Amino acid sequence: MSHKIAYTKPSITELEIRYVTDAVTNGWGEQCYQYIERLEQGFARYIGTKHAIATSSCTGALHMGLAALGIGPGDEVILADTNWIASVSPVVYLGAKPVFVDILPDSWCLDTAAVEQAITANTKAIIAVHLYGNLCDMTRLQELASKHGLVLIEDAAEALGSEYHGKKAGSIADFGVFSFHGTKTMTTGEGGIFVTNNTELFEKVLTLSNHGRKRGQQKQFWPDELGYKYKMSNIQAALGCAQLERIDELVLAKRALFAKYLEALAKYPELTFNPEPEGVVNSVWMPTVVFSSESKITQRQLLAAFSQQLIDARVFFWPLSSLPVFSGQYNAEGMSPNAYDLCQRAINLPSYVDITQNEIDRVCDVVIRLLQRQGAGHV
Ligand SMILES: *Cc1c(COP(=O)(O)O)cnc(C)c1O
Repeated sequence: MSHKIAYTKPSITELEIRYVTDAVTNGWGEQCYQYIERLEQGFARYIGTKHAIATSSCTGALHMGLAALGIGPGDEVILADTNWIASVSPVVYLGAKPVFVDILPDSWCLDTAAVEQAITANTKAIIAVHLYGNLCDMTRLQELASKHGLVLIEDAAEALGSEYHGKKAGSIADFGVFSFHGTKTMTTGEGGIFVTNNTELFEKVLTLSNHGRKRGQQKQFWPDELGYKYKMSNIQAALGCAQLERIDELVLAKRALFAKYLEALAKYPELTFNPEPEGVVNSVWMPTVVFSSESKITQRQLLAAFSQQLIDARVFFWPLSSLPVFSGQYNAEGMSPNAYDLCQRAINLPSYVDITQNEIDRVCDVVIRLLQRQGAGHV
C-alpha cells in the first residue's frame, strides 16, 4: 500500500532548529525581543513596506488594523463570498456588517463590478483577499476605494511572494496582513504580521498590540486605552527569521511544484488552474484544479477519489454566506453564483515544498482517471 500524501507541511532545516534553539536558550531578559524585531524589519524589507508588526495570528493582525481604522457598528465592509472565515471574523468582532460579493470565474477573487454595486453610504472598507496565491485586481480596487473614500485592505495570507506589477502582494493597499500558520508558505507555527506604509496607522496598531500602552509611556502598567493581546513570542519569531531567510527558495519551490502539475495536467481542456495574468507573479500557495461544468464532476466524487488513494486534497472554500454562522442573514446564492458553483468542482492539490515527482504523479493520476471516468459517462 502506498503512503499517505499530506496536503501541506512546513519545510524545516538546520537553520530553523538553530535559531529556535538559540531563542529558547538565550532569548530572555534583555534579549527577549531580538528575533521579533529582526523578523519585523526583515519582513517589511522583503514586502516593501515601511512598517511591520508581528502578531500571534493573521486574524489578530486584521482585527487590530480594522479597529485602528475605527470600524464598528453601522459600518459595512465588502469582501468576497469565497473565503476562509478568518478574513471576516474580525469584521463581526467589531460589530460591523460584512457584505459578501461574488468572485470572478478565472481569478477566484473579488469581482470588482460586484464590489462597485455593493458600495453604499455605510461602506467603510474593502478587504481584498488574494485567494490561493492568485491576486485581486488591485488597480481597479484602488480606483474604487479612492473614488468612494474607502479603506483598501489586503489579506495576503495566501499570497506571500506573489507580485502585482512589481509590487509584493500585501504592500499595495492601506495595510496588509499575513499568516504564518503551519499550512502557510512561511510558518512560525501560529503567527501573523501586519504591514503598512502609513506611519500614523502603524503607531495606532502598535499601541493596540501592546494592551493599549503608547510607545514612550514611562509609567509602568499604565494602558492609555483598551488594546489587545495579539503578540508573537520571540521563539516563534526565531522560526520566522529562519523561514524568511529562505523565502525565495520556498516561493520558488511552490512555483516549481505547480509547474510540474501543469506539465502533467494542462493539456486537458476540461481543467483550469491558478492563473498568472500579465504583470502578475503567482506564488501558488495552493495549486488548485477546477473541473469544467461540462465534466459534471461533484465535490463528493472529487473527495472520494483522492481519499481512496490516500491523498489529502482539500475542498475549495465554501461561500461564507452558506456557513451556519451567517445563516438566514444572506441570500447570497443568487448574489454570488460563481462562489456557489466553483466550490462544487474545484479542489486544492497537495503542495508541500518537499513533495516528490512520484507523489505528484500519484495526484495527477487521480485527476486524469476522474476525467476519463466522466468522459466514459460513468457518474
Ligand atoms: C490562513 C488565513 C487566515 C488566518 O490566519 P491565522 O494566522 O490562522 O489567523 C486569514 N486569511 C487568509 C486568507 C488565510 O488563508
